[in-house]
Amino acid sequence: MTSENNDDHKETPNHSQHSGDEFWGHDLYPERRGTKSRNFMSTLFMKEGREIYDKSRCEKMVYDCAMKHPLVKLMMMALKSSGCPVDLRRNFSCETCDSLVTGGYDTELNQIVICQNNIRRESTAASVLVHEMIHMFDFCRHKMDFKNIDHLACTEIRAANLTYCSFASAVVDGDASFWDVKNRHQDCVKRRAMLSVLAARAVTVAEAAEAVNRVFNKCYKDLEPIGRRIYRPREHMDQALLDASYFYTDK
Ligand SMILES: [Zn+2]
Repeated sequence: MTSENNDDHKETPNHSQHSGDEFWGHDLYPERRGTKSRNFMSTLFMKEGREIYDKSRCEKMVYDCAMKHPLVKLMMMALKSSGCPVDLRRNFSCETCDSLVTGGYDTELNQIVICQNNIRRESTAASVLVHEMIHMFDFCRHKMDFKNIDHLACTEIRAANLTYCSFASAVVDGDASFWDVKNRHQDCVKRRAMLSVLAARAVTVAEAAEAVNRVFNKCYKDLEPIGRRIYRPREHMDQALLDASYFYTDK
């Protein structure tokens, strides 16, 4: 089992998911659009060799996460049970991305992008996979329209709630009260969701914040399919997987 720590999250900036024509608005994923430059010098020297190395290391991390990480396994089980089974080769793609992002979800191809050049650790890969699989789950379950900023804000709230912010809140001062943790957690979710909306859409900070606030209460309460916030990674992840196995069959 892979455990999370706070360092991972500092390395994990905004994830973006996109839809339709706007998908590559910020050109964060040059391999997708085929805009990545190839030239003789980069082939001759080490750049392409480095990319091949990064890709195979990334693919191994994704495979290991799918085999071992409780939340990745849980998400795969929930997706399959909801009629959207995940095939590692078809639905996950390791690619070279802009340095700003670690992952993304392409609704058109139903594919999760894992940014091989920005992910060095398996625990970071697991965070990215779970985050993006929550978007995949929302797209599968509700056929969400990610062009609708409220839908986008909602799925980003859910992803931050169930992954990054819960892990971050797990590392709290010994004397932090329940209310401190709760408020800190909600602030974290709002901030992360807003940053993710801003990364994916050309909107103002105020527009992103308004969208997050409009849907916050409803979407913050929706913990499916993990069923809980993971404050103690080791125990809670294992328990979440066990609980989920009663609801989501692997068949
Ligand atoms: Zn996201």
